Amino acid sequence: MSITVDKVIKREPLVINENATVKDAVDIMSRENVGLLVIVNSAGKPIGVISERDIIRALSRGKDLNAKVTEVGTIGNIITVSPKDSIYKAALLMNDHKIRHLVVMDGDKLRGVISIRDIISEERVVSS
Ligand code: AMP
Ligand code: AMP
Repeated sequence: MSITVDKVIKREPLVINENATVKDAVDIMSRENVGLLVIVNSAGKPIGVISERDIIRALSRGKDLNAKVTEVGTIGNIITVSPKDSIYKAALLMNDHKIRHLVVMDGDKLRGVISIRDIISEERVVSS
């Protein structure tokens, strides 16, 4: 039986407010050593994500670090899994959407973020 997503969540979800700047995001990502933050509105509801890849693209297009995270990140269409989904399903979703992170939602509650790194390290444990 495949391992479930909740078993590979490493920590509480790291989020950033929708009014924050890319500089704020870079500071959190650097300090916390993560490649993606969930963008939340003032009610704490996830509205999008911003990843290192978005920031690289934005800088290449001439945007600066004072841009809002909502101008740079992916807004609206968040790809999610639930805690009881298998990591196999998570891997397929990452592959299909060409993304390295998934937002874990338990109903409408934000539970965490998993990255491709979590799945690879888990598969190594399974096959050894
Ligand atoms: P990454 O460098 O983005 O692949 O992520 C490094 C580790 O941090 C992975 O083990 C993820 O589970 C975790 N992680 C990444 N982004 C977040 C986030 N926004 N909130 C909580 N944990 C995260
Ligand atoms: P990544 O490979 O995870 O750094 O992200 C590549 C692109 O996909 C960036 O534009 C991200 O904003 C977007 N992205 C990453 N994870 C998700 C997700 N779970 N839902 C929606 N978009 C995402």
